[in-house]
Amino acid sequence: MSTIFSQIVEGEIPARIVYEDETTVAFLDANPLAPGHTLVIPKDEYERVNDVPADVATDLYATIHRMVPAVEDAVDADATTVAFNNGEAAGQEVPHVHCHIVPRFEDDDAGPIHAMFGQRPELDDDELDEIADDIESRA
Ligand code: 5GP
Repeated sequence: MSTIFSQIVEGEIPARIVYEDETTVAFLDANPLAPGHTLVIPKDEYERVNDVPADVATDLYATIHRMVPAVEDAVDADATTVAFNNGEAAGQEVPHVHCHIVPRFEDDDAGPIHAMFGQRPELDDDELDEIADDIESRA
């Protein structure tokens, strides 16, 4: 079964599409966190960032790069939060990878993405070294 975003790509359900090319599309979020909240997706269905093939990832980033200033200028935003909820445990509800471009304003009080987390883990230097080595070995 195709995702709701694939149905938008296919024109089966309406959306306010603001940019489209061969491999990607950008459209307004139906429940915006701020005016201008835009989603950027690959047309093909991949669930997570890590599932997207490299050539499509390049196209996806190019569209994000194009849309960030377009969105900021359109709503006169001071900044944007650009983010992926990458996986269900991270809050991803639609299993079709999408980048949120959320306009931000000096007085919006939403804070940085760091504000999502309460207490931070206490990690000593050895633990940080071990984690860094592990990530490096998999990169
Ligand atoms: P997620 O939590 O998966 O990162 O975000 C999904 C986003 O898709 C939400 O911000 C939600 O408002 C948006 N959304 C869900 N269904 C639709 C839809 O049918 N049309 C549009 N334009 N946005 C949708």
